[in-house]
Amino acid sequence: MNVFVLNCGSSSLKFQIIETDADRIATDSDKQLAKGLIERIGSEAIVTFQVDDRPSLKHAAPLRDHKAALAHVIEWVLNPETKIPGIAGLDDIHAIGHRVVHGAERFTGSLLIDKDVLNGLQECVDLAPLHNPANLKGIYAATDLFGPKMPQVAVFDTAFHSTMPETAYLYGIPYQLYRRFKIRKYGFHGTSHRFIAFRYRKLANKTREETNIITVHLGNGCSACAIKEGRSVDTSMGMTPLEGLMMGTRSGDVDPTVIEFLMHKEGTSVEEVFSTLNKRSGLLGVSGLTNDMRDLQSEAEEHQDRRAILAIDMFCYRVKKYIGSYIAAMNGTDAICFAGGIGENSPQIRQDILSDLDWLGISVDGKRNAEAIRGKEMLISSDKSRVPVYVIPTNEELILARDTVRAVKSLPFPC
Ligand code: AMP
Repeated sequence: MNVFVLNCGSSSLKFQIIETDADRIATDSDKQLAKGLIERIGSEAIVTFQVDDRPSLKHAAPLRDHKAALAHVIEWVLNPETKIPGIAGLDDIHAIGHRVVHGAERFTGSLLIDKDVLNGLQECVDLAPLHNPANLKGIYAATDLFGPKMPQVAVFDTAFHSTMPETAYLYGIPYQLYRRFKIRKYGFHGTSHRFIAFRYRKLANKTREETNIITVHLGNGCSACAIKEGRSVDTSMGMTPLEGLMMGTRSGDVDPTVIEFLMHKEGTSVEEVFSTLNKRSGLLGVSGLTNDMRDLQSEAEEHQDRRAILAIDMFCYRVKKYIGSYIAAMNGTDAICFAGGIGENSPQIRQDILSDLDWLGISVDGKRNAEAIRGKEMLISSDKSRVPVYVIPTNEELILARDTVRAVKSLPFPC
């Protein structure tokens, strides 16, 4: 099957076309045929398309909304000059898999989208006003452009964490607020944590039940996950992706009193304060320079910029604290696995996070750590480390494509 994987953000659209089916899943031989990214939808959008491993093509196009962006993708896919292997017409796309950020308590696994599911997704908008509306736009655009008969599947960022126990997901606020409004921790990046755990099992030759690990996804968004017997038992993001680790532009954990204090002091609205916490905090807010870890590291190295160094130190310290708390919560861990743009590419950040953990018997091998580059699964701990540490490049799109096949063909879903 050729699956069109779609990930719509508020002003972006990411896609891949992946050839996969039950046999390819079993033999790990899924094939990425094409991919692309459209940014700045709503104005002069920046479009990047790529077939196979041919050079990528970049251009600008005025795309007013997600439907126009998706139409632009389809036009490219069908252009005879594009020549995506096995794709001559829209009939060669067999299903669409959508990344949906929030599934609330209702959606605990991937499923085919029908009217009922669409109504449920609308209800989840309340919990994820920044993310789910864009996901819904993608679904509506795909229905219009691929036709109502095209099977479409929703894969939720929250689903992997639906196994968390109450003790982990409830906040210490009046229980009625959970009962009435479902205020609780849901967690995100679920497809990534699930993929990392799956790859760890393969690498370490473990069964799902033997998988007791901590996964750390460090990209522009960051989260950690405690995985016990193959299931998420705790994670750092909360009711929304704002909670937890410090991120590119998100603050992560702050005392909620800061919100009222800021509104009072600056005479601003609650929306403005949340905009600060979501878009102008984290690495960007502390450094005052950038949300991009690579650039921050350059500033720190070349100019010894004090706030760049501070932002990096705070970032690492907070990851270390979460790892420590999950080791306590799980009575130990069999491995720590890093993923995401920062987790996969920055030996320095991995080293800083795991420094001074000798009391726990964790030690990183400098040479192995330096050699771990993007796209490669690597063990980076030293032979004497009590806890193995891995770099495992994540692949959320692959999980999306595979779950789409499973939902369409009614195959079982491994956790
Ligand atoms: P992602 O959201 O997973 O694409 O990750 C984006 C983040 O990864 C940005 O902060 C990038 O600066 C960071 N990143 C990518 N490559 C590197 C690198 N070689 N060293 C440090 N950070 C990197």
